[in-house]
Amino acid sequence: RAGETVLEARKLSAGYGGVPVTHELDLRVGAGEVVALLGANGAGKSTTLLTLAGVLGGLGGEVFWLGRTDPAPLHLRSRLGLAFIPETRSIIAELSAEDNLRLGRGPVDLALEYVPELKKLLKRRAGLLSGGEQQMLTLARVLAARPKVLLADEMSLGLAPLIVERLLAAIRRAADEEAIGALIVEQQVRNVLAVSDHAYVLRRGRLVMSGPAGEMRTRTDEIESHYLAG
Ligand code: ATP
Repeated sequence: RAGETVLEARKLSAGYGGVPVTHELDLRVGAGEVVALLGANGAGKSTTLLTLAGVLGGLGGEVFWLGRTDPAPLHLRSRLGLAFIPETRSIIAELSAEDNLRLGRGPVDLALEYVPELKKLLKRRAGLLSGGEQQMLTLARVLAARPKVLLADEMSLGLAPLIVERLLAAIRRAADEEAIGALIVEQQVRNVLAVSDHAYVLRRGRLVMSGPAGEMRTRTDEIESHYLAG
């Protein structure tokens, strides 16, 4: 149901080797919502996503994922509806684009509905696709599986703004049509706020701003100043 909380962090601290990088974060993602997690390099965005996904153990606080505090073991989570797109590309270079889609959990047709650009690339070896096309392939495969929660870490790193808009539009559509709740880390502040419902800004491991995207759009300069300040 739209609005129902699918992912929540309460006072979540996370880090490496017992040393915290993020401090007592409160975050919430509802079904059908696109939520942006913004901040400069090193602010702790990836650490937060890894911890929410359960790849990294938290150092304090709680994560509620689909209402559970004890998320299933990592290998079962995707079956239960958690999708995680890490910063590194996750395609199989030797296989065709089509076979990459077939390896996903969802129907190839639905993947192509989300990203029709892939139709003309199906027979091509995934490793020969451009960086942007590879990200489209990754996202299409993930969205076709109709996850309940999507965590995406800087999918657009190094990609042209036009491709980034396409990726973000596909996520927006999945949120609207399938009630997927998405938490996305993104450097292109204006682009991501254009499709978001809510945004959080992280600075040096602490949340320094948050609010509805409409309000955050009017504060873009202030958000970007946090990037410059590191
Ligand atoms: P970026 O956009 O550069 O990925 P980020 O906001 O995602 O930035 P993180 O990758 O979460 O930031 O890094 C936050 C801090 O944690 C940084 O100071 C970084 O050096 C540190 N860090 C990241 N990965 C590790 C690790 N595996 N071991 C120890 N420290 C790490």
